[in-house]
Amino acid sequence: MQVSVKIPTRKEIEPLGVYVPGKPIEEVKREFGLTEIIKLASNENPYGCSELAAQAVMREMEKCAFYPEGTAPELAAKLAANLGVDPENVIVGNGSDEIIRLLTRSYIAAGDEAIMADVTFSRYETNVRIEGGVPVTVPLIDGVHDLAGMLKAIGSRTKMIFVCNPNNPTGTIVGRSELLAFIEQVPRHIMLVIDEAYYEYVSDPDYLQTVPLLAGYPNLVILRTFSKIYGLAALRAGYGMMHPSIVQELIKVKEPFNSNRMAQAAAIASLDDPVFAADCARRNEAARTKLASELKQLGLSCYPSHANFLMVKLGRSGDDVFRSLLARGVVVRAGSLLGYPDTIRVSVGTEQDNQVFVEALRHILRPDGQPA
Ligand SMILES: *Cc1c(COP(=O)(O)O)cnc(C)c1O
Repeated sequence: MQVSVKIPTRKEIEPLGVYVPGKPIEEVKREFGLTEIIKLASNENPYGCSELAAQAVMREMEKCAFYPEGTAPELAAKLAANLGVDPENVIVGNGSDEIIRLLTRSYIAAGDEAIMADVTFSRYETNVRIEGGVPVTVPLIDGVHDLAGMLKAIGSRTKMIFVCNPNNPTGTIVGRSELLAFIEQVPRHIMLVIDEAYYEYVSDPDYLQTVPLLAGYPNLVILRTFSKIYGLAALRAGYGMMHPSIVQELIKVKEPFNSNRMAQAAAIASLDDPVFAADCARRNEAARTKLASELKQLGLSCYPSHANFLMVKLGRSGDDVFRSLLARGVVVRAGSLLGYPDTIRVSVGTEQDNQVFVEALRHILRPDGQPA
């Protein structure tokens, strides 16, 4: 038994919950006596990563005694060249999660307000709270950001606005012209963060290309990641694009060696293999379309997703279905964790994984209505 801690935390930290990640696979196996588990909980890439990235990591291991380049200049330059911006516009983070934290660390003071959707990616709210800021949430409309409502929520204390596009957990996108008008109307002293973690999955022509807008909107910040379509979630590599002066502020507060060697090497190599990413996008879209139609056959509907996951409306407790799926070796996200108690969020896996998921769900939802 340890004696209790007498050191109080900062008051901002006290009410925060601990981030609940997807259930660890080994834990599920033990609990249910299963040997095979299908994890469709964290929107990971079921096809792994590019072979080039895997080789780059192995090569880079030989240099693991040496600190990495602190600002990932080679990766930043390559991203900039690919995206048509200057390297000075790019900051690389230990995942884009880190960039969210750098933004709030640098810009949110106690009492500052940050507007975000209810429901969206939970890291915005948590990081705003850590700094003593006040999250101002605007409910989604049919799973889509209410941009008009978000504009109305702007007040004298508003410092930052988050738009997650496609939105996690609903997978929806905001329309091209609506988002463009929104960007135009947000006052330039308010930072507008557009999180495009699932950018590479989107094929809808009604999706706004935001990178060309950077030059005209100095308050615009765009976030992307190598964790999703590039399949490098374990290595932690994400990046932000923004005005060079914002990059300089973030560099002041970041850890000197925030992005590690293996992550940088793998990200660079991934950019040399665009065929891998394009192939993943194509396979994801085919599998997602098929999965959505099979769910429809089960009498279930989903929000229209442009990403690699579906939010499934169950019309009953998502927690119950989550647990029943777990017992059958399929791990998804219970919607209750994300603010939708009667849903689950399922990542789009391989055709084979999706099939196992659908069959398990079919069994659980059988006509007598009793969870299996
Ligand atoms: C997964 C995800 C991220 C975080 O990605 P990392 O680069 O792994 O930190 C950021 N935003 C959204 C909306 C995500 O779903």
